[in-house]
Amino acid sequence: MSATSADLLFTPIPARIARLRDIAYNYWWAWNPEATDLYRRIDPHLWEAIYHNPVQFLRNVRQRNLVAMTNDAAWLADYDAVVASFDAYMTDKNTWFKRTYPNEKSSIAYFSAEFGIHESLPIYSGGLGILAGDHVKEASDLDLPFVAVGFIYPQGYFRQRLDHSGWQEAIYSKMNFADIPARPALTPSGDEVVVEVELPGRTIYAKVYHLQVGRVTLYLMDTDIHPNSHSDRELSARLYGGDHDMRVAQELVLGIGGVRALRQMGISPSVWHMNEGHSAFLVLELARELVAKGVPFMQAFDMVRDQAVFTTHTPVPAGNDAFSLDLIDKYFGRFWDQLGISRDEFMNIAMQQQSWGPSFAMTVLALRLSEMHNGVSKLHGHVARTMWQWLYPGKELDQVPITSVTNGIHSASWLAPGMKKLYNDVLGADWYDRLDDPKLWEALQQSDDARFWKTRLELKQALVYFVRERLAQRHTRLGFPPVTWPILDESQLTIGFARRFATYKRATLLFRDAERLKYILNRQDQPIQLVFAGKAHPADEPGKHFIQDVYRRSQEPGFAGKIVFLEEYDMCVARALVQGVDVWLNTPRRPYEASGTSGQKASLNGIPNLSILDGWWPEAYDGTNGWAVGEEREYDNLDEQDWNDAQHLYHLLENEVAPAYYDRDANGVSARWVAIAKAAIMTCAPQFSTRRMLKEYVNRLYLPVARS
Ligand SMILES: *Cc1c(COP(=O)(O)O)cnc(C)c1O
Repeated sequence: MSATSADLLFTPIPARIARLRDIAYNYWWAWNPEATDLYRRIDPHLWEAIYHNPVQFLRNVRQRNLVAMTNDAAWLADYDAVVASFDAYMTDKNTWFKRTYPNEKSSIAYFSAEFGIHESLPIYSGGLGILAGDHVKEASDLDLPFVAVGFIYPQGYFRQRLDHSGWQEAIYSKMNFADIPARPALTPSGDEVVVEVELPGRTIYAKVYHLQVGRVTLYLMDTDIHPNSHSDRELSARLYGGDHDMRVAQELVLGIGGVRALRQMGISPSVWHMNEGHSAFLVLELARELVAKGVPFMQAFDMVRDQAVFTTHTPVPAGNDAFSLDLIDKYFGRFWDQLGISRDEFMNIAMQQQSWGPSFAMTVLALRLSEMHNGVSKLHGHVARTMWQWLYPGKELDQVPITSVTNGIHSASWLAPGMKKLYNDVLGADWYDRLDDPKLWEALQQSDDARFWKTRLELKQALVYFVRERLAQRHTRLGFPPVTWPILDESQLTIGFARRFATYKRATLLFRDAERLKYILNRQDQPIQLVFAGKAHPADEPGKHFIQDVYRRSQEPGFAGKIVFLEEYDMCVARALVQGVDVWLNTPRRPYEASGTSGQKASLNGIPNLSILDGWWPEAYDGTNGWAVGEEREYDNLDEQDWNDAQHLYHLLENEVAPAYYDRDANGVSARWVAIAKAAIMTCAPQFSTRRMLKEYVNRLYLPVARS
C-alpha cells in the first residue's frame, strides 16, 4: 500500500518488527487476540489509553519501547508466530470458497448502515451492526468474493456515561482518520474516490475510505469534506443522529452513493445484499443506470430484482424506516423522470399506509426489488411473513416468499482466549476450520470437568476485576467517595444482562417483584449476583428511564454490591460479559426479538442461556443446554405477559439455575452445571456461528441469485 501523509506521523519502527504496521492496517487483528496482545505488551498503559487500536498505538508509542521489544526473546517469538499466521491466512489458496466453488465468477456487495468490527471503530449501535461486522469477518474466513459498503461516521455512535442519578448522557468525540486503519480508496487509475449525489438544490460529495478486514474490503463513505456545506458535512457525522430529513439524505448517500463508489472503482457485483432497509435506495440507482442505457423501466425493475438480496431485521413496526411522501417529493423530485416513470408510479413502488398516512417504506422497496428475502431466525421468518403478507395478495401465509437464515456469531471474535486454549487441546488444533460440524464438538463431552470449571472461574475472576476497574473510574469521574461495599464476589453465581435498552427487551422485568428478587439473590446457600449493561438510543426516553431504574435498584440495600450497571456497552464490555458471567439472561417481549446474538456468544463460551423463547432461542433450546423462560406463546394482555414471565423467571432462578450451580463435589465442581455448560457449547457453537450462517447465505441466496 502506498505511503500517505499519515505514515509520516508514525513512530519509526525497528526493521526487525516492522510488520507491526501491516498487521495494524488489517482488521484481522480484531479476531486474533494473539496479535492485539503483541501491541498491548509493548506498553499496556498506552494500549488502554488509546482503547485497543493498533494504528493509534503505533502513532503514539515511544520509540524506546519498540526498540526494547527487539531484545525480548519471548515477545519476538510470539511476534514471529503472529506474522506467520497472518501471512498464511492472507495467502491461503485452500479456502472454503475456492475449494467449493473453484470456477465461480460472481461477487457480492453487502450494504449496511452500521458495522461492528471492533470497539475502536464505534460505527455500530447494537445487534444489527455487530451482525454486519461478523458477516464481513466470516466472508473473509470463507474467502468469499465480497465487498462491504457503509458510512464511517466521524463521531460514531455515542459513548455512554451515567450521571450521579443514573441518567444516561451521550458523549460524542470526533475520530481522527489517521488514527484508524482507513486509507483513501482509489480508482483503477489511482485517484481518490469521491462520489456525487444530488440532494435538493445541491450536490453532496462523499469521500470513500478503504478498510481491510482480513481478505475482504470494507468501503466507508464520509461526507465531512470540502466543498460540502456545513450541514452536509454533518450528514455522516453520527450514526442515527438526525431527523427524518437527515435520515433520507443519509440513506440516499448510502444507497446511491454506495453504488457509484463501487462503479468508480471498477467493481461490478453480481449480487447486491441489503442488510436491513437503510440501504434500499441502491436498487433505484441500479434501475436508473439501466434506464440510462435504454432499458425500459419495467424491464430494468425486473433485472435489478434478479440481482438483489434483502435481509429484514425488525419485527417492531416502528423499526422499519418509512418516509412521508412530502419528504420523498423533496429528495426524489427529479429522480422518477430519470427512471422514465411518473410520480405516482414511483411512489407506488414502496407505498405503505401508516397510522399517520401514506409512506414510502424502505422495507417495501427492498422486498419489491429483491429476488430473495429473509428474516433472521425461524420465528422471525414467520413474523416477517405475517407482517408483509399484504404485499403478496392471494398468497397464503406459508407461501409468502420470505425465508429465514438464522443469525450466528463470528466465533473467533467472541471466544475467550482461555476457552480457545481448552478447545485447542480437546478438539484439536484445527477445530476452527471445522467449527460448523456438530460432530467436532462431541469430544467436549468426555473432557475433564475440573479443568472446564477452572477455566470458567478464571474468566469470571477477570470479569470481576474488569467491573471493579470500570466502577472505580466512574466514582473518580463523578467525585464519589471510593466504593464502600464489596463489589461482586467471584464465588457467586453471576448472571449477565447486556443489550440495547429498547423497551421491548424488558431490562426491568426481573424487578417486577423486587422483594422476591432480593430474597432469591440473598439466599445464603445459593447467592446470586447480576451485571447489567446497555445503551438506550439518545432519543428513547422510556429506554433511558429503564437504565435509571436498574441503576437505582443497584444502589438499594439488598441489591448494592450484588447488582451493578456497567457504563458504555460496546464490543469490549460485551466480550468481558459474554466470556465472564455464568448465565446469560434475556427477557424480550416475544415475538419482538428478531434473533438476538449475545446469547450465542455466551453459549460459545460455555455460558448457558436463561431466556424467553424468542428469536434464536426456540431453535436452540433442547431442555439440556439452558433454560426457557415463559411459554411459547404471545399475549394480548402485556401486563399478564410480564407477570407470568417474571414469575417463571423467579421460579427457575431459585429452583433450577442456582441449585445446579451450587451442587458441588468435594473439589468444589458442579458436574451438573458443567454438563449444562458443555451442552450449551455443543449444541450452539456449530449451529449459531456465522460459519453455518454465511454458507447458508451463499448456497441458498447468493449463488441462486447470481445464477438467475
Ligand atoms: C452482540 C451484541 C449486541 C446484540 O445483542 P442482542 O441483544 O442479543 O441482540 C449488541 N451490542 C453489542 C455491543 C454486542 O456485542
